[in-house]
Amino acid sequence: MDMSRKKSGVLYVVATPIGNLDDISLRALEVLKAVSLIAAEDTRHSRKLLAHYGIAGRMFALHEHNEQKVTDKLLKTLLGGDDVALVSDAGTPLVSDPGFYLVRAARQAGIRVAPLPGPSACIAALSVAGLPTDRFVFEGFLPVRAAARSQRLRELATEMRTLVFYESSHRICECLTDMAECMGSDRQATVARELTKTFETIRDGTLAELVDWVQADSNQQKGEFVVVLQGAPARDSDIDEATEQALTVLIAELPLKQAASLAAKITGLPKNRLYEAGLVIKGK
Ligand code: SAM
Repeated sequence: MDMSRKKSGVLYVVATPIGNLDDISLRALEVLKAVSLIAAEDTRHSRKLLAHYGIAGRMFALHEHNEQKVTDKLLKTLLGGDDVALVSDAGTPLVSDPGFYLVRAARQAGIRVAPLPGPSACIAALSVAGLPTDRFVFEGFLPVRAAARSQRLRELATEMRTLVFYESSHRICECLTDMAECMGSDRQATVARELTKTFETIRDGTLAELVDWVQADSNQQKGEFVVVLQGAPARDSDIDEATEQALTVLIAELPLKQAASLAAKITGLPKNRLYEAGLVIKGK
């Protein structure tokens, strides 16, 4: 072992507030004071947070457009023995925010990467949504283009876990309208707006109710949003989704017995099990 080799610094991934500046951990403040360099998504934005806590750290911009380019430079700093903190504009870095390339590269280089946990809009919204949280899917932002957005929502229509989406003020109406169209207007959801800020609003209802509510009040279209959506109801049959889809198509064209027999040939599943599943599908 080369004992002369200098010990690498630590890359701290530091969560910062999503609105209320008091939502930062004591440890995060200590680390931000102590590190040699703070890599921030927007240095001007993070400078305000640091100034609020009397921290005058050396800052370096790391955003989605330069992340790959500046990762080498930050690795050199870390390998030289200096500690670096990574922060984003709000919440936990890497959660719909830059940092993935840097963290992966640091781990590959054998550098210690330490989390400083704290706020994330996803978890904050889930914690108050009143929807099941034992399992959930974080979907981040939906595609901006209408066709791609609807396609993604249709793909997610049978997902049974609670779904979490990020949305901006520009598209919150379209997003809820498309959800109602693709997931069914009776599906339950919670809209969490401006969490931890002055105009924090948390509203639940069916998608149809939420579309009406947001459309009726332009104030409810402002700010930052998380939409937490109830998962699809449990399927009645014990066959997988693709088999159920195939069986549904066959049943539409053939008598049930024949459809089950054909589905059994295609999938290799027992005919009687498919017949049973077919009865459930027909009963819907
Ligand atoms: N890294 C952040 C986190 O951990 O939540 C998320 C960054 S992402 C670029 C920004 C999006 O997060 C916003 O468009 C919004 O959907 C959501 N968001 C952030 N702060 C929020 C807040 N205070 N209330 C509601 N949603 C918020």
